[in-house]
Amino acid sequence: MTFSTKLLDWWDKHGRKDLPWQHPRTAYHVWVAEIMLQQTQVKTVIPYFIRFIDRFPDIDTLANASEDDVLALWSGLGYYARARNLLKTAQRCRENHDAELPRNPAALAALPGIGESTANAIYSQAHDKPAVILDGNVKRVLARYFAIEGWPGKSSVHKQLWGSAARLLPKRRGADYTQAIMDLGATVCTRTKPACRQCPVAGQCQAFRINSVDKYPAKRPALKKTSKSFHVLILTDGKGRVLLERRPPTGIWGGLWSLPADDDGGMIRQYPGLDAGKLRELPGLKHQLTHMDMTIRPLIGDSEFLSTGVECAPDQRWFEPQEWPQLGLPKPVRQLLEIYLENCEK
Ligand code: SF4
Repeated sequence: MTFSTKLLDWWDKHGRKDLPWQHPRTAYHVWVAEIMLQQTQVKTVIPYFIRFIDRFPDIDTLANASEDDVLALWSGLGYYARARNLLKTAQRCRENHDAELPRNPAALAALPGIGESTANAIYSQAHDKPAVILDGNVKRVLARYFAIEGWPGKSSVHKQLWGSAARLLPKRRGADYTQAIMDLGATVCTRTKPACRQCPVAGQCQAFRINSVDKYPAKRPALKKTSKSFHVLILTDGKGRVLLERRPPTGIWGGLWSLPADDDGGMIRQYPGLDAGKLRELPGLKHQLTHMDMTIRPLIGDSEFLSTGVECAPDQRWFEPQEWPQLGLPKPVRQLLEIYLENCEK
């Protein structure tokens, strides 16, 4: 039996068939799920996916949404460029493809935020065609099965994995095969403690045969992590509204609403309309990004905005607490606003 036959037999008995994007398995559903699943686990994605599809049931509705609406539903999922690219792609599809995703992988891969593997994953699952995909789970399975040396992020290793994946493709059941190889990586050939004894392809797996499963795939060379500490200002206008400002479109938290920030709090103290003498400090909040450890030091201040009418800058706005849930806010900013509200209620 070939790799694909064994894998499909296993999937028929043990595979995941109740994921929300499988019912129905449309190109739109698969696309949204694939983008959400980048760097993120299935169990985290499921509630986000359900809320997203509930609010934006098709490309047209998504294309007509504001960036704020989309980012609000993405809030907490991280890597916000993915959400902005979803919106851009929906708008392009509305303009150039009759509000549908194109049916061929090359045209899909030309859209914002869709790489070659994601394009193939959409094509394969939505149209039941065999196509190479290489997400993190699949790379791990193949690196072990063929005992491929080197970190998969390296282009020569990636090429080798792509060629190996292409050789294993079945002629039929493209959609099931794609789901099956992803499921094998997610549930059997896991990063730590893979269940090789229950693996349908253990008989030909090179890493298993030489008892070196833990050596594959090679680890990513250590990332140099930086740390950053900065102040944020929770500025209130005396009526419970808080001043937020939109982040620049690129960089950390690009396009999201955040609190005014600066490194040592010096600029914050001179904020127009702020009574700096009455600033209060909340305990610092730690937040980790892939490449950075953040310590956020919140200061609470009252603005004389209402009495002086000092305007805010063009990228700033006062928001009522009832509006916060609908905003695209970075996770720690949402946490700080909740802590601030709890403090007010005491
Ligand atoms: Fe992964 Fe083990 Fe199966 Fe090899 S035998 S593919 S290492 S689960």
